[in-house]
Amino acid sequence: MIKKSIGICRVCAKNVPAWYEERSDGIYFVSDCHVHGVTEEIVERDLGSFLWGYEQEYKKGASHLAIPVTYRCNLKCKYCYTMSNSSAKFPADKSLGTLKEIYDSFEGNVTLIGGEPTVRKDLFEIIRLAKEHSNVGKLSLATNGQRLKDIDYVKKLAGSGLDFVFLSYNDKEYDESIHVNNNKIKALQNCSECNIPVWLQGTFSQTRQLDSFVEAVETYKKNIFNITLRAVKPIGVREPEDMIFCFGYSSLPG
Ligand code: SF4
Repeated sequence: MIKKSIGICRVCAKNVPAWYEERSDGIYFVSDCHVHGVTEEIVERDLGSFLWGYEQEYKKGASHLAIPVTYRCNLKCKYCYTMSNSSAKFPADKSLGTLKEIYDSFEGNVTLIGGEPTVRKDLFEIIRLAKEHSNVGKLSLATNGQRLKDIDYVKKLAGSGLDFVFLSYNDKEYDESIHVNNNKIKALQNCSECNIPVWLQGTFSQTRQLDSFVEAVETYKKNIFNITLRAVKPIGVREPEDMIFCFGYSSLPG
């Protein structure tokens, strides 16, 4: 079994040809940079599980749009693969006019991503504009949670019509600082108080880091409707292109 994809060279961070390949001990992701050579990582040991995920992620019709509204960010995470806040040249923030054109052109759910979308001062307007479109279904925000430590800010998000939040939540030893982690806990608490459902997304390099993640889930489980966990793979960084992602899934609140 071989399935074509696109990889990122871990040395030069350029897009390179890549593919998933079935071998005797599992599924490998192989990428081939013509300058830096071939790299490979095992991504799944069970073919059935891989194919299930592959079908879910890549084969369904797109029903969901992820729009980067900015590439700027208010953090400098060591694991940031988009190099937000580095000296890389970033595409400009999308104007309200451009966002309206995107909203007009698509029927389905929309997630505002970054960088960090909350660095935009007009974020509430961006949300309201989306909600004025009857063709836009669920409207969500992918955030590092730092601005959401402020309850008034979260109330405004709720008032603008935001349906749910994707919150990146890592272990305190993996986050940029303990303050960053504390702000994420506060964000969870505020979303819970304002009845904004949360899809929690965790990234880990050590299994012991699961402990504080589980603790947060246990505390705010009434308001967390989905969880994604990822292990770190050292694939390198990339300079962002102005890409809008389409994907399809079904597990959304209400
Ligand atoms: S919050 Fe996200 S975009 Fe910002 S620096 Fe961290 S990983 Fe990068």
